Amino acid sequence: MAENRLKTLLVALGDQLDHESPEMQALDRGRDTVLMAEVAAESENVPVHRQRTVLFLSAMRHFADELREASFRVRYVKLGDRGNTQSLGGELKRAMGKLRPDRVVVTQPGDHRVERELRKVCPEIEIRPDTSFTCSLEEFDAWADGRRELTMEFFYRERRRALDVLMDGKRPAGGEWNYDKQNRETFRTQPKIRKPYRARPDEITREVMRLVEKRWPEAPGRMQGFDWPVTRAEALRALRDFITHRLSGFGTYEDAMWAGEPTLYHSRLASSLNLKLLKPAECVEAAQRAYEQGEAALNDVEGFVRQIIGWREFIRGVYYREGADYRERNRLGHEGKLPELFWTGETQMRCLRHCVGEVLDGAWGHHIPRLMVIGNFALIVGVSPQAINDWFLGMYTDAVDWVTTPNVVGMSQHADGGVVGTKPYAASGKYIDRMSNYCASCPYDVKKRTGEDACPFNVFYWDFLIRHHRRFKSNRRMAMVLKNVERLDSKEKRAIRDRAEALRRELGV
Ligand code: SF4
Repeated sequence: MAENRLKTLLVALGDQLDHESPEMQALDRGRDTVLMAEVAAESENVPVHRQRTVLFLSAMRHFADELREASFRVRYVKLGDRGNTQSLGGELKRAMGKLRPDRVVVTQPGDHRVERELRKVCPEIEIRPDTSFTCSLEEFDAWADGRRELTMEFFYRERRRALDVLMDGKRPAGGEWNYDKQNRETFRTQPKIRKPYRARPDEITREVMRLVEKRWPEAPGRMQGFDWPVTRAEALRALRDFITHRLSGFGTYEDAMWAGEPTLYHSRLASSLNLKLLKPAECVEAAQRAYEQGEAALNDVEGFVRQIIGWREFIRGVYYREGADYRERNRLGHEGKLPELFWTGETQMRCLRHCVGEVLDGAWGHHIPRLMVIGNFALIVGVSPQAINDWFLGMYTDAVDWVTTPNVVGMSQHADGGVVGTKPYAASGKYIDRMSNYCASCPYDVKKRTGEDACPFNVFYWDFLIRHHRRFKSNRRMAMVLKNVERLDSKEKRAIRDRAEALRRELGV
Protein backbone atom coordinates (compact mmCIF):
# COMPACT_ATOMS: atom_id res chain seq x y z
CA MET A 1 0.00 0.00 0.00
CA ALA A 2 2.81 2.41 0.90
CA GLU A 3 4.29 1.84 -2.55
CA ASN A 4 0.96 2.87 -4.09
CA ARG A 5 0.99 6.22 -2.35
CA LEU A 6 4.33 7.20 -3.87
CA LYS A 7 4.15 9.99 -6.41
CA THR A 8 5.92 8.92 -9.58
CA LEU A 9 7.62 10.95 -12.27
CA LEU A 10 7.99 8.80 -15.40
CA VAL A 11 10.54 10.03 -17.91
CA ALA A 12 9.34 9.06 -21.42
CA LEU A 13 12.16 9.48 -23.91
CA GLY A 14 11.64 10.22 -27.60
CA ASP A 15 12.10 6.57 -28.55
CA GLN A 16 9.82 5.26 -25.79
CA LEU A 17 6.41 6.06 -27.23
CA ASP A 18 4.70 2.94 -25.91
CA HIS A 19 1.27 3.25 -24.33
CA GLU A 20 1.49 -0.32 -23.11
CA SER A 21 4.84 -0.23 -21.32
CA PRO A 22 4.55 -1.57 -17.75
CA GLU A 23 5.78 1.79 -16.46
CA MET A 24 3.02 3.66 -18.28
CA GLN A 25 0.38 1.12 -17.26
CA ALA A 26 1.37 1.42 -13.59
CA LEU A 27 0.86 5.19 -13.40
CA ASP A 28 -1.93 6.73 -11.36
CA ARG A 29 -3.40 9.14 -13.88
CA GLY A 30 -4.62 11.57 -11.27
CA ARG A 31 -1.39 11.87 -9.36
CA ASP A 32 1.67 10.71 -11.31
CA THR A 33 3.28 12.68 -14.14
CA VAL A 34 4.92 11.77 -17.43
CA LEU A 35 7.86 13.99 -18.34
CA MET A 36 8.61 14.50 -22.02
CA ALA A 37 11.14 17.05 -23.20
CA GLU A 38 12.23 18.33 -26.60
CA VAL A 39 15.83 19.37 -26.08
CA ALA A 40 18.30 20.83 -28.55
CA ALA A 41 21.16 18.70 -27.21
CA GLU A 42 19.60 15.58 -28.75
CA SER A 43 19.62 17.17 -32.21
CA GLU A 44 23.09 18.67 -31.87
CA ASN A 45 25.01 15.79 -30.35
CA VAL A 46 25.92 14.78 -33.90
CA PRO A 47 24.72 16.49 -37.14
CA VAL A 48 21.13 15.27 -37.45
CA HIS A 49 19.10 14.89 -40.64
CA ARG A 50 16.15 17.28 -40.52
CA GLN A 51 13.67 14.45 -41.17
CA ARG A 52 15.00 12.52 -38.19
CA THR A 53 14.48 15.48 -35.86
CA VAL A 54 10.99 16.08 -37.26
CA LEU A 55 10.07 12.42 -36.81
CA PHE A 56 11.12 12.36 -33.17
CA LEU A 57 9.53 15.69 -32.21
CA SER A 58 6.30 15.12 -34.10
CA ALA A 59 5.91 11.56 -32.77
CA MET A 60 6.54 12.85 -29.23
CA ARG A 61 3.90 15.59 -29.62
CA HIS A 62 1.34 13.13 -30.96
CA PHE A 63 2.10 10.69 -28.17
CA ALA A 64 1.76 13.40 -25.50
CA ASP A 65 -1.62 14.42 -26.95
CA GLU A 66 -2.79 10.80 -26.82
CA LEU A 67 -1.66 10.56 -23.20
CA ARG A 68 -3.54 13.74 -22.28
CA GLU A 69 -6.65 12.44 -24.05
CA ALA A 70 -6.35 9.35 -21.88
CA SER A 71 -6.25 11.63 -18.77
CA PHE A 72 -2.55 11.24 -17.99
CA ARG A 73 -0.77 14.21 -16.45
CA VAL A 74 1.98 15.20 -18.86
CA ARG A 75 4.74 17.73 -18.32
CA TYR A 76 5.71 18.39 -21.92
CA VAL A 77 8.56 20.81 -22.55
CA LYS A 78 8.60 22.16 -26.09
CA LEU A 79 11.81 23.14 -27.81
CA GLY A 80 10.97 26.85 -27.75
CA ASP A 81 9.51 26.97 -24.21
CA ARG A 82 10.92 29.61 -21.92
CA GLY A 83 13.22 28.09 -19.34
CA ASN A 84 13.96 24.97 -21.43
CA THR A 85 17.52 24.01 -20.46
CA GLN A 86 17.83 22.11 -23.77
CA SER A 87 19.24 19.00 -22.11
CA LEU A 88 17.49 15.90 -20.78
CA GLY A 89 19.35 16.15 -17.48
CA GLY A 90 18.41 19.81 -17.12
CA GLU A 91 14.74 19.09 -17.80
CA LEU A 92 14.67 16.21 -15.33
CA LYS A 93 16.20 18.47 -12.70
CA ARG A 94 13.61 21.20 -13.34
CA ALA A 95 10.74 18.71 -13.23
CA MET A 96 11.97 17.19 -9.98
CA GLY A 97 12.28 20.65 -8.43
CA LYS A 98 8.77 21.58 -9.48
CA LEU A 99 6.90 18.30 -8.89
CA ARG A 100 8.87 16.87 -5.96
CA PRO A 101 8.16 13.23 -6.90
CA ASP A 102 8.76 10.39 -4.45
CA ARG A 103 10.40 8.41 -7.18
CA VAL A 104 11.64 8.88 -10.71
CA VAL A 105 11.27 6.03 -13.19
CA VAL A 106 12.49 5.48 -16.73
CA THR A 107 12.44 2.50 -19.07
CA GLN A 108 16.00 1.44 -19.94
CA PRO A 109 17.31 4.19 -22.27
CA GLY A 110 18.60 3.02 -25.64
CA ASP A 111 21.72 5.13 -25.27
CA HIS A 112 24.37 4.79 -22.54
CA ARG A 113 25.00 8.55 -22.75
CA VAL A 114 21.37 9.36 -21.92
CA GLU A 115 21.35 6.90 -19.02
CA ARG A 116 24.49 8.54 -17.60
CA GLU A 117 22.95 11.98 -17.96
CA LEU A 118 19.75 10.99 -16.13
CA ARG A 119 21.67 9.17 -13.38
CA LYS A 120 23.89 12.19 -12.85
CA VAL A 121 20.90 14.36 -12.06
CA CYS A 122 18.99 11.68 -10.19
CA PRO A 123 21.27 8.87 -8.88
CA GLU A 124 18.27 7.05 -7.41
CA ILE A 125 16.35 6.94 -10.71
CA GLU A 126 14.71 3.53 -11.17
CA ILE A 127 15.71 2.08 -14.54
CA ARG A 128 13.20 -0.55 -15.59
CA PRO A 129 13.79 -3.24 -18.23
CA ASP A 130 12.49 -2.48 -21.71
CA THR A 131 9.91 -5.20 -22.25
CA SER A 132 9.02 -4.16 -25.79
CA PHE A 133 11.70 -6.52 -27.15
CA THR A 134 11.13 -10.24 -27.59
CA CYS A 135 14.35 -11.15 -25.75
CA SER A 136 15.21 -9.73 -22.34
CA LEU A 137 18.79 -8.72 -21.60
CA GLU A 138 18.93 -11.51 -19.00
CA GLU A 139 17.90 -14.06 -21.63
CA PHE A 140 20.52 -12.71 -23.99
CA ASP A 141 23.25 -12.89 -21.34
CA ALA A 142 22.20 -16.43 -20.40
CA TRP A 143 22.63 -17.38 -24.06
CA ALA A 144 25.91 -15.49 -24.49
CA ASP A 145 27.66 -16.45 -21.24
CA GLY A 146 30.47 -18.89 -21.77
CA ARG A 147 30.46 -18.68 -25.57
CA ARG A 148 33.76 -17.95 -27.27
CA GLU A 149 32.02 -16.24 -30.16
CA LEU A 150 28.61 -14.62 -30.37
CA THR A 151 27.10 -15.92 -33.60
CA MET A 152 23.81 -14.38 -34.62
CA GLU A 153 22.70 -17.53 -36.44
CA PHE A 154 22.75 -19.62 -33.25
CA PHE A 155 21.04 -16.90 -31.24
CA TYR A 156 18.37 -16.66 -33.92
CA ARG A 157 17.67 -20.39 -33.95
CA GLU A 158 17.28 -20.40 -30.20
CA ARG A 159 14.86 -17.47 -30.38
CA ARG A 160 12.81 -19.19 -33.09
CA ARG A 161 12.47 -22.18 -30.77
CA ALA A 162 11.79 -20.06 -27.66
CA LEU A 163 9.13 -17.96 -29.37
CA ASP A 164 7.76 -20.82 -31.49
CA VAL A 165 8.05 -18.79 -34.69
CA LEU A 166 8.07 -20.61 -38.03
CA MET A 167 8.48 -23.91 -36.24
CA ASP A 168 7.10 -27.29 -37.12
CA GLY A 169 7.30 -28.94 -33.74
CA LYS A 170 10.99 -28.96 -32.86
CA ARG A 171 12.08 -28.45 -36.44
CA PRO A 172 12.16 -25.23 -38.45
CA ALA A 173 9.25 -24.85 -40.86
CA GLY A 174 10.28 -26.18 -44.26
CA GLY A 175 13.23 -28.03 -42.73
CA GLU A 176 15.79 -25.18 -43.02
CA TRP A 177 16.72 -22.41 -40.59
CA ASN A 178 17.44 -20.01 -43.38
CA TYR A 179 16.83 -19.61 -47.08
CA ASP A 180 19.73 -17.32 -47.92
CA LYS A 181 20.44 -19.21 -51.12
CA GLN A 182 17.02 -18.18 -52.47
CA ASN A 183 17.41 -14.68 -51.11
CA ARG A 184 20.13 -13.24 -53.30
CA GLU A 185 18.10 -12.43 -56.38
CA THR A 186 18.79 -9.27 -58.33
CA PHE A 187 16.77 -7.26 -60.83
CA ARG A 188 17.69 -7.41 -64.48
CA THR A 189 15.18 -4.81 -65.60
CA GLN A 190 13.45 -1.89 -63.89
CA PRO A 191 11.53 -3.42 -60.97
CA LYS A 192 7.81 -2.69 -60.81
CA ILE A 193 6.86 -2.76 -57.17
CA ARG A 194 3.98 -0.92 -55.57
CA LYS A 195 5.24 2.17 -53.71
CA PRO A 196 5.01 2.02 -49.93
CA TYR A 197 2.36 3.75 -47.85
CA ARG A 198 3.33 7.35 -47.15
CA ALA A 199 2.03 9.04 -44.01
CA ARG A 200 0.78 12.55 -44.78
CA PRO A 201 2.16 15.25 -42.47
CA ASP A 202 -0.69 16.73 -40.40
CA GLU A 203 -0.70 20.18 -38.79
CA ILE A 204 1.41 19.02 -35.82
CA THR A 205 4.07 17.60 -38.14
CA ARG A 206 3.97 20.67 -40.38
CA GLU A 207 4.49 22.94 -37.37
CA VAL A 208 7.48 20.84 -36.29
CA MET A 209 8.86 21.01 -39.84
CA ARG A 210 8.75 24.80 -39.73
CA LEU A 211 10.34 24.80 -36.28
CA VAL A 212 13.20 22.53 -37.37
CA GLU A 213 13.85 24.55 -40.55
CA LYS A 214 14.04 27.72 -38.47
CA ARG A 215 16.14 26.34 -35.65
CA TRP A 216 18.57 24.20 -37.69
CA PRO A 217 18.75 25.77 -41.16
CA GLU A 218 22.13 24.12 -41.71
CA ALA A 219 20.98 20.62 -40.74
CA PRO A 220 21.83 17.93 -43.29
CA GLY A 221 19.26 16.29 -45.54
CA ARG A 222 16.10 17.43 -47.28
CA MET A 223 12.79 18.02 -45.56
CA GLN A 224 10.64 17.72 -48.66
CA GLY A 225 8.92 14.38 -48.96
CA PHE A 226 8.75 13.65 -45.21
CA ASP A 227 6.35 10.71 -44.96
CA TRP A 228 7.28 8.79 -41.82
CA PRO A 229 4.60 7.38 -39.50
CA VAL A 230 4.41 9.57 -36.40
CA THR A 231 1.60 7.75 -34.57
CA ARG A 232 0.86 4.15 -33.73
CA ALA A 233 -2.16 4.23 -36.04
CA GLU A 234 0.06 5.28 -38.96
CA ALA A 235 2.71 2.72 -38.01
CA LEU A 236 0.07 -0.04 -38.02
CA ARG A 237 -1.05 1.08 -41.45
CA ALA A 238 2.57 0.93 -42.67
CA LEU A 239 2.84 -2.60 -41.27
CA ARG A 240 -0.35 -3.70 -43.07
CA ASP A 241 0.90 -2.09 -46.26
CA PHE A 242 4.17 -4.01 -46.07
CA ILE A 243 2.58 -7.35 -45.24
CA THR A 244 0.02 -6.99 -48.02
CA HIS A 245 2.17 -5.57 -50.79
CA ARG A 246 5.88 -6.21 -50.20
CA LEU A 247 6.46 -9.09 -47.80
CA SER A 248 6.06 -11.41 -50.77
CA GLY A 249 9.36 -10.66 -52.47
CA PHE A 250 11.12 -9.28 -49.38
CA GLY A 251 13.43 -12.23 -48.76
CA THR A 252 14.02 -13.04 -52.40
CA TYR A 253 15.25 -9.53 -53.23
CA GLU A 254 16.42 -8.34 -49.81
CA ASP A 255 20.00 -7.71 -50.95
CA ALA A 256 19.20 -6.14 -54.33
CA MET A 257 19.63 -2.46 -55.18
CA TRP A 258 18.35 -0.38 -58.07
CA ALA A 259 19.01 3.27 -58.92
CA GLY A 260 16.07 5.50 -57.97
CA GLU A 261 14.27 2.68 -56.10
CA PRO A 262 15.34 2.86 -52.47
CA THR A 263 12.48 0.81 -50.99
CA LEU A 264 12.00 -2.12 -53.39
CA TYR A 265 10.44 -4.86 -51.19
CA HIS A 266 11.73 -3.48 -47.88
CA SER A 267 9.44 -2.70 -44.97
CA ARG A 268 10.58 0.76 -43.81
CA LEU A 269 9.27 -0.24 -40.38
CA ALA A 270 12.50 0.21 -38.41
CA SER A 271 11.80 3.80 -37.33
CA SER A 272 8.34 2.81 -36.02
CA LEU A 273 9.82 -0.20 -34.23
CA ASN A 274 12.63 1.82 -32.71
CA LEU A 275 10.30 4.59 -31.50
CA LYS A 276 8.13 1.78 -30.03
CA LEU A 277 5.13 2.71 -32.16
CA LEU A 278 5.21 -0.93 -33.27
CA LYS A 279 6.14 -4.05 -31.38
CA PRO A 280 8.48 -6.64 -32.89
CA ALA A 281 6.13 -9.44 -31.80
CA GLU A 282 3.17 -8.04 -33.74
CA CYS A 283 5.30 -7.60 -36.88
CA VAL A 284 6.48 -11.20 -36.69
CA GLU A 285 2.95 -12.46 -35.98
CA ALA A 286 1.61 -10.60 -39.01
CA ALA A 287 4.34 -12.06 -41.25
CA GLN A 288 3.83 -15.56 -39.90
CA ARG A 289 0.07 -15.27 -40.48
CA ALA A 290 0.71 -14.26 -44.10
CA TYR A 291 2.83 -17.40 -44.51
CA GLU A 292 0.21 -19.64 -42.89
CA GLN A 293 -2.49 -18.18 -45.10
CA GLY A 294 -0.40 -18.78 -48.21
CA GLU A 295 0.07 -15.08 -48.95
CA ALA A 296 3.88 -15.12 -48.77
CA ALA A 297 6.51 -17.77 -49.38
CA LEU A 298 8.58 -19.20 -46.55
CA ASN A 299 11.88 -17.74 -47.78
CA ASP A 300 10.36 -14.23 -47.86
CA VAL A 301 8.82 -14.53 -44.41
CA GLU A 302 11.88 -16.16 -42.86
CA GLY A 303 14.09 -13.35 -44.19
CA PHE A 304 11.89 -10.78 -42.44
CA VAL A 305 11.56 -12.77 -39.20
CA ARG A 306 15.35 -13.14 -39.07
CA GLN A 307 15.77 -9.34 -39.21
CA ILE A 308 13.30 -8.77 -36.38
CA ILE A 309 13.84 -11.50 -33.78
CA GLY A 310 17.33 -12.41 -34.94
CA TRP A 311 19.54 -9.57 -35.97
CA ARG A 312 17.73 -6.69 -34.21
CA GLU A 313 17.60 -8.39 -30.82
CA PHE A 314 21.11 -9.85 -31.15
CA ILE A 315 22.53 -6.38 -31.78
CA ARG A 316 20.68 -5.01 -28.77
CA GLY A 317 22.09 -7.73 -26.55
CA VAL A 318 25.61 -6.94 -27.76
CA TYR A 319 25.12 -3.21 -27.09
CA TYR A 320 24.31 -3.65 -23.41
CA ARG A 321 26.72 -6.53 -22.88
CA GLU A 322 29.71 -4.68 -24.32
CA GLY A 323 29.07 -1.43 -22.45
CA ALA A 324 29.61 2.27 -23.01
CA ASP A 325 33.18 2.11 -24.27
CA TYR A 326 32.20 -0.08 -27.23
CA ARG A 327 31.59 2.93 -29.46
CA GLU A 328 35.21 4.08 -28.99
CA ARG A 329 36.75 0.87 -30.30
CA ASN A 330 39.03 1.10 -33.29
CA ARG A 331 40.79 -2.22 -33.67
CA LEU A 332 41.92 -1.52 -37.24
CA GLY A 333 43.41 1.85 -36.27
CA HIS A 334 41.43 3.80 -38.88
CA GLU A 335 41.68 7.55 -38.38
CA GLY A 336 40.51 9.03 -41.71
CA LYS A 337 38.11 11.97 -41.94
CA LEU A 338 34.61 11.47 -43.34
CA PRO A 339 34.66 12.59 -47.00
CA GLU A 340 32.53 15.61 -47.87
CA LEU A 341 30.44 13.48 -50.26
CA PHE A 342 28.65 12.02 -47.23
CA TRP A 343 27.00 15.42 -46.74
CA THR A 344 26.40 16.28 -50.39
CA GLY A 345 26.10 13.03 -52.33
CA GLU A 346 28.28 14.69 -54.97
CA THR A 347 30.64 12.16 -56.47
CA GLN A 348 31.30 10.45 -59.78
CA MET A 349 30.85 7.07 -58.10
CA ARG A 350 27.29 6.20 -59.10
CA CYS A 351 26.71 3.73 -56.29
CA LEU A 352 27.61 6.24 -53.59
CA ARG A 353 25.83 9.07 -55.37
CA HIS A 354 22.60 7.04 -55.34
CA CYS A 355 22.94 5.52 -51.88
CA VAL A 356 24.07 8.68 -50.07
CA GLY A 357 21.66 10.77 -52.15
CA GLU A 358 18.76 8.59 -51.02
CA VAL A 359 19.74 9.07 -47.39
CA LEU A 360 19.95 12.85 -47.88
CA ASP A 361 16.52 12.74 -49.57
CA GLY A 362 14.67 10.47 -47.20
CA ALA A 363 16.82 9.71 -44.11
CA TRP A 364 16.72 6.03 -44.94
CA GLY A 365 18.23 3.26 -47.05
CA HIS A 366 17.93 -0.51 -46.70
CA HIS A 367 20.59 -2.72 -45.16
CA ILE A 368 22.68 -3.39 -48.28
CA PRO A 369 23.34 0.26 -49.27
CA ARG A 370 24.20 0.81 -45.58
CA LEU A 371 26.49 -2.19 -45.19
CA MET A 372 27.88 -2.96 -48.62
CA VAL A 373 28.09 0.49 -50.22
CA ILE A 374 28.32 3.27 -47.62
CA GLY A 375 29.77 1.35 -44.67
CA ASN A 376 31.99 -0.74 -46.90
CA PHE A 377 33.40 2.40 -48.52
CA ALA A 378 34.20 4.00 -45.14
CA LEU A 379 35.86 0.75 -44.02
CA ILE A 380 38.10 0.16 -47.02
CA VAL A 381 39.03 3.86 -47.31
CA GLY A 382 40.01 3.89 -43.61
CA VAL A 383 37.54 6.40 -42.15
CA SER A 384 37.47 6.63 -38.36
CA PRO A 385 34.75 4.27 -37.07
CA GLN A 386 33.55 7.00 -34.72
CA ALA A 387 33.17 9.50 -37.59
CA ILE A 388 31.11 7.09 -39.71
CA ASN A 389 29.12 5.94 -36.66
CA ASP A 390 28.18 9.55 -35.90
CA TRP A 391 27.06 9.97 -39.51
CA PHE A 392 24.83 6.89 -39.34
CA LEU A 393 23.47 7.99 -35.95
CA GLY A 394 22.39 11.35 -37.29
CA MET A 395 21.26 10.51 -40.80
CA TYR A 396 18.67 7.72 -40.47
CA THR A 397 15.19 8.03 -39.00
CA ASP A 398 15.62 4.64 -37.33
CA ALA A 399 18.98 5.43 -35.74
CA VAL A 400 19.27 5.01 -31.97
CA ASP A 401 22.58 4.28 -30.26
CA TRP A 402 21.71 0.70 -29.20
CA VAL A 403 21.06 -0.37 -32.77
CA THR A 404 23.35 1.89 -34.77
CA THR A 405 26.60 1.61 -32.83
CA PRO A 406 27.00 -2.21 -32.84
CA ASN A 407 25.85 -2.29 -36.47
CA VAL A 408 28.38 0.34 -37.53
CA VAL A 409 31.34 0.08 -35.15
CA GLY A 410 31.02 -3.71 -35.03
CA MET A 411 29.36 -5.18 -38.09
CA SER A 412 30.25 -2.58 -40.68
CA GLN A 413 33.64 -1.25 -39.55
CA HIS A 414 34.96 -4.36 -37.76
CA ALA A 415 36.34 -1.96 -35.16
CA ASP A 416 35.29 -4.21 -32.26
CA GLY A 417 37.84 -6.84 -33.30
CA GLY A 418 35.22 -9.42 -34.20
CA VAL A 419 32.54 -9.33 -31.46
CA VAL A 420 29.73 -8.89 -33.99
CA GLY A 421 31.25 -10.36 -37.14
CA THR A 422 34.08 -12.81 -37.54
CA LYS A 423 35.37 -11.11 -40.68
CA PRO A 424 35.18 -7.57 -42.04
CA TYR A 425 32.43 -6.75 -44.53
CA ALA A 426 34.90 -5.46 -47.10
CA ALA A 427 33.94 -5.87 -50.73
CA SER A 428 35.10 -4.73 -54.14
CA GLY A 429 32.98 -3.17 -56.86
CA LYS A 430 32.19 -6.67 -58.13
CA TYR A 431 29.64 -7.21 -55.37
CA ILE A 432 27.94 -3.87 -56.07
CA ASP A 433 27.88 -4.62 -59.78
CA ARG A 434 26.25 -7.99 -59.14
CA MET A 435 23.56 -6.63 -56.83
CA SER A 436 22.61 -3.37 -58.61
CA ASN A 437 22.51 -1.46 -61.88
CA TYR A 438 24.78 1.33 -60.60
CA CYS A 439 27.94 0.37 -62.45
CA ALA A 440 26.29 0.46 -65.89
CA SER A 441 26.19 4.27 -65.81
CA CYS A 442 29.36 4.88 -63.80
CA PRO A 443 32.38 6.56 -65.40
CA TYR A 444 34.65 4.19 -63.48
CA ASP A 445 35.42 0.72 -64.77
CA VAL A 446 34.26 -1.93 -62.33
CA LYS A 447 36.56 -4.50 -63.93
CA LYS A 448 39.74 -2.54 -63.20
CA ARG A 449 41.71 -2.20 -59.98
CA THR A 450 44.50 0.08 -61.16
CA GLY A 451 44.59 3.18 -63.31
CA GLU A 452 42.75 6.47 -63.15
CA ASP A 453 39.46 4.98 -64.35
CA ALA A 454 39.58 1.95 -62.07
CA CYS A 455 36.56 1.54 -59.78
CA PRO A 456 37.56 3.18 -56.45
CA PHE A 457 35.89 0.34 -54.57
CA ASN A 458 38.34 -2.07 -56.24
CA VAL A 459 41.32 0.16 -55.52
CA PHE A 460 40.40 0.64 -51.86
CA TYR A 461 39.40 -3.00 -51.38
CA TRP A 462 42.79 -4.30 -52.50
CA ASP A 463 44.56 -1.53 -50.63
CA PHE A 464 42.63 -2.56 -47.48
CA LEU A 465 43.67 -6.19 -47.90
CA ILE A 466 47.30 -5.24 -48.50
CA ARG A 467 47.34 -2.88 -45.49
CA HIS A 468 45.77 -5.41 -43.12
CA HIS A 469 47.25 -8.57 -44.58
CA ARG A 470 49.23 -9.46 -41.48
CA ARG A 471 46.35 -8.76 -39.12
CA PHE A 472 43.91 -11.04 -40.95
CA LYS A 473 46.36 -13.80 -41.77
CA SER A 474 45.21 -15.94 -38.88
CA ASN A 475 41.52 -15.51 -39.79
CA ARG A 476 40.41 -18.68 -41.56
CA ARG A 477 37.46 -16.93 -43.20
CA MET A 478 39.90 -14.53 -44.88
CA ALA A 479 42.28 -17.20 -46.21
CA MET A 480 40.90 -17.26 -49.76
CA VAL A 481 41.00 -13.52 -50.35
CA LEU A 482 44.41 -13.14 -48.74
CA LYS A 483 45.77 -15.78 -51.10
CA ASN A 484 44.73 -13.49 -53.95
CA VAL A 485 46.67 -10.64 -52.36
CA GLU A 486 49.73 -12.83 -52.13
CA ARG A 487 49.49 -13.47 -55.86
CA LEU A 488 49.84 -9.77 -56.69
CA ASP A 489 53.32 -8.77 -57.78
CA SER A 490 55.04 -5.89 -56.03
CA LYS A 491 54.53 -3.57 -59.02
CA GLU A 492 50.77 -4.03 -58.95
CA LYS A 493 50.67 -3.69 -55.18
CA ARG A 494 52.56 -0.41 -55.47
CA ALA A 495 50.18 0.82 -58.19
CA ILE A 496 47.15 -0.01 -56.02
CA ARG A 497 48.61 1.68 -52.97
CA ASP A 498 49.60 4.81 -54.92
CA ARG A 499 46.19 5.10 -56.54
CA ALA A 500 44.47 4.62 -53.16
CA GLU A 501 46.60 7.41 -51.68
CA ALA A 502 45.77 9.74 -54.58
CA LEU A 503 42.05 8.99 -54.20
CA ARG A 504 42.23 9.58 -50.46
CA ARG A 505 43.76 12.98 -51.09
CA GLU A 506 41.00 13.80 -53.61
CA LEU A 507 38.36 12.73 -51.10
CA GLY A 508 39.97 14.74 -48.29
CA VAL A 509 40.12 11.68 -46.02
FE1 SF4 B 1 30.48 2.08 -57.64
FE2 SF4 B 1 32.69 1.17 -58.82
FE3 SF4 B 1 30.32 0.46 -59.74
FE4 SF4 B 1 31.19 2.94 -60.07
S1 SF4 B 1 32.08 1.13 -60.95
S2 SF4 B 1 29.14 2.31 -59.42
S3 SF4 B 1 32.30 3.27 -58.17
S4 SF4 B 1 31.14 -0.02 -57.74
